[in-house]
Amino acid sequence: MTGHAPLTSADADLQDFPFMPLHVARLRDSDLAAEAHPEACWYAVLLWSASWHQVPAGSLPAGEAVLARLCGLGRDVKTFRRHRDDAMRGWIECSDGRLYHPVVAEQVNSAWSEKLAYRDRKAKRAASGSAGGEAKWNADPSGLSRSQRLSIAREKGRHTKQDWLLMIEACGTICARCGDGGPLVKDHILPIYKGGSDGIENLQPLCPTCNSSKGPEDTDHRPNGWEDRYERLRECLANGKRTPSKMPDEIEGERLPKGTGRGKGTGSYSDADASGGAAAVGAEVIPIIPAGAPPSPPVDPAKVMFDSGIALLGAAAVPERKARSMLGKWLRDHGPETVIVALGNAQREGAVDPVSFIERCFRNGPQSRPARQSRNGFLDAIIDEERAARA
Ligand SMILES: [Zn+2]
Repeated sequence: MTGHAPLTSADADLQDFPFMPLHVARLRDSDLAAEAHPEACWYAVLLWSASWHQVPAGSLPAGEAVLARLCGLGRDVKTFRRHRDDAMRGWIECSDGRLYHPVVAEQVNSAWSEKLAYRDRKAKRAASGSAGGEAKWNADPSGLSRSQRLSIAREKGRHTKQDWLLMIEACGTICARCGDGGPLVKDHILPIYKGGSDGIENLQPLCPTCNSSKGPEDTDHRPNGWEDRYERLRECLANGKRTPSKMPDEIEGERLPKGTGRGKGTGSYSDADASGGAAAVGAEVIPIIPAGAPPSPPVDPAKVMFDSGIALLGAAAVPERKARSMLGKWLRDHGPETVIVALGNAQREGAVDPVSFIERCFRNGPQSRPARQSRNGFLDAIIDEERAARA
């Protein structure tokens, strides 16, 4: 042990930070890179990476056997010893008995203070959120239940799940208010207790925090140009996509007549899920076909899902048989649209392990994405798949 105080805070925990900044010029011009054996350099990088996710972040345990393991050497302490001096350049033992590297510590301290500041902001936002929620509650003088208010709102306008998915895409698949890429919920811009409609023109995607903190305000946070994107997406779907799935007979031809394309129509289609959340359910995809459009062969979303799933999983060395059974299970549990979205995400993200990536998508909710995506990604993917299937 030495007299050095540890270089990072004892509670610094960056285990949820997958990225560690690497000062490329520093590494490139370092003595380590110039002098050490490439194998030692590799161990050095692995040790920096390992320390990023230790607690305290930026520290390493001092034991040789553990360090060898963190270098990816398993029990091969002998090899570790051979490269130890180079691999461990710059690490110093501190008074807590752990090893610290000044450069890594600098990065940790900056990330850790950002994380604390973020926590602080989030706590403040949540506090104002519950205040907003109360304001919302108090602002409703009608005494009606939520379902009563919702049926009044639906008399003013309705939307389908497809409308809602298009709106999410048109708004960039992020919270329209704060830009968060996590799960998104439906927000009635003019709250329904203030007379707002349940039509798509009155809906915006918000993260749960923004939704609960918005209070009685009625600000439209949707990005500029969302109407154009929405229309374009709708046309894409109309041209590239139709489903033969179970449509109730009585609404045939009634849904989305020209001019009421944004859910303002009075079609009797009942949206079973007005609460937001699980949005993608294959059987409820509404065929958006303008009256008189030429017929084209129907496309089965389950087939699209299987075809793209087998291709994606096959590329990750999952045998077709296994891929089929997994896809079948996902199909039963989540419906084809959700699976297609998750497959698209896995493909775009270049997921090394698509199976766990996709299962994580399911756990995190249908609209969740690990990072911000380019616009219209999954719709493009669906349309491409279907074009290919029809060719
Ligand atoms: Zn938000």
